[in-house]
Amino acid sequence: MANSEGKTCQNCRNQFTIESEDFRFYEKIKVPPPTWCPECRLQRRMMWRNERTLYKRKCQAPGHSEEILSIYSPALSLTVYDHDFWWSDGWHPLEYGHNYDFSRPFFEQLRKLFETVPLVNFYNTNPQNSNYCNHTVDLKDCYLIFGSIFNENVSYGSDISYSRDSLDLYMSEKMEGCYFNL
Ligand SMILES: [Zn+2]
Ligand SMILES: [Zn+2]
Repeated sequence: MANSEGKTCQNCRNQFTIESEDFRFYEKIKVPPPTWCPECRLQRRMMWRNERTLYKRKCQAPGHSEEILSIYSPALSLTVYDHDFWWSDGWHPLEYGHNYDFSRPFFEQLRKLFETVPLVNFYNTNPQNSNYCNHTVDLKDCYLIFGSIFNENVSYGSDISYSRDSLDLYMSEKMEGCYFNL
């Protein structure tokens, strides 16, 4: 059984410890021990979720060329459609299905799939007059709010739910007529 082991993070150069039970877990799932410290690994995982860094890029829906805002940088080789077209029946996601090739690495194929299947510019489900919001559900007359659900007439903030007629909120629920609530 492996003992705990001190390591130097290959990213930030800080010391971290891999415990003996961690080694057992890595053996069990057949992966090598990490070379990055837990904090750097967490940052790398969280990079996947871009809530509020917005980029201008061209809509790539068939016959479209308008400029849209998106959470995906134009420098990335991705296919991004505007929100309304992506949610429409103008394209069919199953057309992008193909068989898994067991002779090639999984992540190479996953990346290719991710680059090919059209992505929606913002993850904004059922917005009414709330186009500039991301990771949101059921918004009406909202502007630049993120990670938020069930709001009306709320602008600027994140992690807001069941609120209305408010500005500059953060981690707030059931607010009404509020400003700068944290
Ligand atoms: Zn580190
Ligand atoms: Zn478009």
